[in-house]
Amino acid sequence: MTMKTIVEGNLEVTKEYKYFECLNCGWIGKADKTEYTYCGDQREGDSWYVKCPCCGHKAYDIQQRHRLSQIVDKEIRMQQRKSNYWENR
Ligand SMILES: [Zn+2]
Repeated sequence: MTMKTIVEGNLEVTKEYKYFECLNCGWIGKADKTEYTYCGDQREGDSWYVKCPCCGHKAYDIQQRHRLSQIVDKEIRMQQRKSNYWENR
């Protein structure tokens, strides 16, 4: 059997990203569920962390909705800038 691709898949849409911020150095990024670690408890509520790729401290997931929307906005603006960059070459 030889499979033929008609429409390419996009694994990005299957990822379950959370956004993380390092309070030590200011790094902000997102990670998939294969990359972040659960560290919540019943008293404090659910939370997750990744190891900051910049300074190595724990970067915790961002839970404040206004902070999260600021960062998603920034991400969208950066993606737009990147696609403008390629279109203008
Ligand atoms: Zn850091």
